[in-house]
Amino acid sequence: MTTNIEIVEVSARDGLQSEKKFVATLDKLALIKRAIDAGLRRIEVTSFVNPKRVPQMADAEELVQMLPECNDVRYTGLVLNYRGFERARALQLDEIGCAFVATDSFNKRSQGLEVAEAINQWNRIADDAHTANIKTQIIIGAAFGCPFEGEVSTEHVVNIAKQVAKAGPSEIGLADTIGVAVPVQITEVINAVKNEVPDIKLRCHLHNSRNTGFANAIAAIDAGVEVLDASIGGIGGCPFAPHASGNISTDDLVYMLERSGIKTGVDLTKIIETSLWLETILKKPMSSQVAKSGIFPPIETN
Ligand code: MG
Repeated sequence: MTTNIEIVEVSARDGLQSEKKFVATLDKLALIKRAIDAGLRRIEVTSFVNPKRVPQMADAEELVQMLPECNDVRYTGLVLNYRGFERARALQLDEIGCAFVATDSFNKRSQGLEVAEAINQWNRIADDAHTANIKTQIIIGAAFGCPFEGEVSTEHVVNIAKQVAKAGPSEIGLADTIGVAVPVQITEVINAVKNEVPDIKLRCHLHNSRNTGFANAIAAIDAGVEVLDASIGGIGGCPFAPHASGNISTDDLVYMLERSGIKTGVDLTKIIETSLWLETILKKPMSSQVAKSGIFPPIETN
């Protein structure tokens, strides 16, 4: 098992995206600054989507222009089409994250494209991003199950991974978008993808909708995944799974990994403080557990 895991903090984008009430840009900036201060070095800051469809992300440009300049922090913006890429490129963001889901039915609903068309779009964006010196990564959503088509076969996911790998992303992510994966499946899919694309870093985006998110994280690490997405307080979810709790929380993930001897570089006390602060901003309780139960062993304070 690896001794280091990189966490991509997704609260500012994936976490806030499903909040109905607009969160002030300065509060988003404060959240990002708190994440950096806690030691997180990869942060998904926003998405370049149509503000009419996702009003919460309407301040993408304004927010990116306010981000603190930190040489060792990599800021990522989610891009779902070429227009979104052009907006990210105009800002010279460090990295763009592209995403589509593994099944035609789901992807047509979310992006209006079949999977084959989404792969073509990804190729075009990745080529132009690399020309512009912008890093790229690609996430394959619903890689462990689809709300419309049911089971997604390992072979199907491997086939997509092989195709997206050709554009040279710095990593390929597999997302359990509706939180249905179980550890055995994570092991099987990651092993199969690793076999076919051995040279590209793998990342997982896990949801805890059925309480399997953290077990899945351990299975993913065991299978060789080096990067995990997580969200402070566990905020965020999937609009297609209305009862689902959201992303695995950075709080509980850091607790579990650090106690297991896996370094994250993240200060858990500061994450918990941020979780409690987020409760006051969003006016609702967080789903993470360690903020409620406390760090063990207790940290001595003078
Ligand atoms: Mg998510």
